[in-house]
Amino acid sequence: MNRSASPANAEQLSRESRTLAPVQAMIRSCIQCGTCTGSCPNAFAMDRTPRQLWRLVLMGRQKAIFESKTFALCSACYYCTLRCPRGLPLTEAMGALKQIAARENRVRHRPSTLFHENFIRSVRRHGRVKEMELMTRYWAAVKNPVLPLRFALLGMKLMAKGKVSLDWPSKAKRPLETLFRKVEELEGRS
Ligand code: SF4
Ligand code: SF4
Repeated sequence: MNRSASPANAEQLSRESRTLAPVQAMIRSCIQCGTCTGSCPNAFAMDRTPRQLWRLVLMGRQKAIFESKTFALCSACYYCTLRCPRGLPLTEAMGALKQIAARENRVRHRPSTLFHENFIRSVRRHGRVKEMELMTRYWAAVKNPVLPLRFALLGMKLMAKGKVSLDWPSKAKRPLETLFRKVEELEGRS
């Protein structure tokens, strides 16, 4: 079926192309050399390599891009950005895709979006992440009773090594509030 046949489809296609336009602009001169894929420490876990992802972005393949978890697995190490022979801002482009997925509340990325939201809220409240509070609020937000069980063994190992505190944090002191407000202002969110 030709999606461009009706005005509604034409509007949707136009909206989709506008969504991806800033990311396409960042990577427009990609030559598909694959250096980003060869450099990425997380590529082994990705369902699409970074090089494949950039190709999909340039082709405007929204569905394939947001069905992929590749950009969600980017840990922002900047290695691909440093090594790209075209000097492209690849880490920022990965971040831009994460922001689109969060803004549009894409179902496949909701758990990851909720994790990041609760992580940053914990840092905002206390100046650093409080693990017990983060995990409790995250699990409550995801509403998946099986999820805590999947992480139970890892949690016990971390607690045994003193890496995770069981303490519930005291009242929020918000020591980084000025910084957070400045970032919101720069991003036009205040
Ligand atoms: S390293 Fe740069 S030019 Fe090469 S495939 Fe990756 S994004 Fe494209
Ligand atoms: S910045 Fe992200 S995509 Fe690039 S090498 Fe690091 S983890 Fe991989």
